[in-house]
Amino acid sequence: MRRVTILGATGSVGQSTIDLIARRPEDFAVEAVTGAGNLDLLAHDARRLGARLAVTAREECYAGLRDRLAGTGIEVAAGPSAVAEAAARPADWTMNAIVGAAGLLPGLEAIRRGGTLALANKETLVAAGRLVMATAETAGATILPVDSEHSAVFQALRGEDGREVERLILTASGGAFRDWSLDRLADATVEEASSHPNWAMGQRITIDSASMFNKALEVIEAHELFGLPASAIEVLIHPESLVHALVGFRDGALMAHLGAPDMRHAIGYALNHPTRAPLPVERLDLAAIGRLTFRAPEPDRYPALALAWRVLEEGGVMGAAFNAAKEVALDAFLARSIRFTDMASVVSRTLDRLSGDTTLPILGPDSAMPGLEDVLEADRIARRRAAEVVERMRE
Ligand code: NDP
Ligand code: MG
Repeated sequence: MRRVTILGATGSVGQSTIDLIARRPEDFAVEAVTGAGNLDLLAHDARRLGARLAVTAREECYAGLRDRLAGTGIEVAAGPSAVAEAAARPADWTMNAIVGAAGLLPGLEAIRRGGTLALANKETLVAAGRLVMATAETAGATILPVDSEHSAVFQALRGEDGREVERLILTASGGAFRDWSLDRLADATVEEASSHPNWAMGQRITIDSASMFNKALEVIEAHELFGLPASAIEVLIHPESLVHALVGFRDGALMAHLGAPDMRHAIGYALNHPTRAPLPVERLDLAAIGRLTFRAPEPDRYPALALAWRVLEEGGVMGAAFNAAKEVALDAFLARSIRFTDMASVVSRTLDRLSGDTTLPILGPDSAMPGLEDVLEADRIARRRAAEVVERMRE
């Protein structure tokens, strides 16, 4: 029986994780589930999984959650620090499926506690990759990637010598606007950006897929997880979303990972690692599929993508700044304050301002490892600068 905790249980990845865990009650005992605003779902799942603890990240939701779980004996807590405390409680396996930079502190708690962290929250690695990997090393924790591309790379690397890897190729569906004419993009609405051609995911990552900010985050995530230089990471548009990633070795061989676009593949792999167990996912019929297509991403359509290599070049806390600026730009788009195409401009202008900012702690690819305070400070400064850029854009 393994003890598991699910952070971000009420979200898209959290729900897919619960789907797999709930099918095997004899194998898993649930320590804690956390969510934010969706109290009905959080309480429902805490009950059906028999969790010991349920936590909402919102202080003001405490009474609502407590009332929903009255009489069950399930402990209830609220607020960001309660989420981090939930992550620190003993567990063998923790899923971090919180969205955004809010996943960083709970993720670090779970890593410090040891055991296995299944990491869907890519923002953790983008903001503080070196710190996260070093903390895992010290604590003896295992980090298993859950992002489908990174799980694919991880699987293709099994049994291989990392020194023989020449390049990583991450595939991208191209998102909602891959076939739109470029002049229509500026008028794309929140609703249009929120519908993904292949994957069912949370709204924020779906919009980030349309803009390719998601893939930019994933390039940085891959660099942090697998230690390859930015120049060895490539992105390829693959509209069918069946090949999730490829690893190229120094003899020219490419190992590809294929599977249906269903997050339960990557989540299930992390849940059953180091073994494999049957998963309730579609088996691909390649004869029926017939053909797989690939093309290079167009820089004009996806200006956000190139920012990943710039961030890696500048190093230090730039990843934290990049993610924070991206979150501000996305919030502004969601609030209909800026246009879809403005998001990349907001982030790139924010980075321009930060590159020359001497108040920003630690820059440079060879600089010392940023500490947690450096990361949090860079996040705060970037959010302020990005908000100013948004304001100026609206004037
Ligand atoms: P969702 O938006 O569907 O879910 C996010 C989860 O985080 C919910 O449980 C939400 O609670 C909770 N949450 C929101 N804000 C906070 C906060 N401030 N503090 C703590 N918890 C919070 O996201 P996804 O499941 O789509 O994505 C989760 C992570 O996984 C992201 O980092 C994403 O990039 C990554 N990922 C997702 C994939 C997918 O298929 N969806 C694929 C690959 C990676 P509530 O709903 O109760 O408000
Ligand atoms: Mg992905």
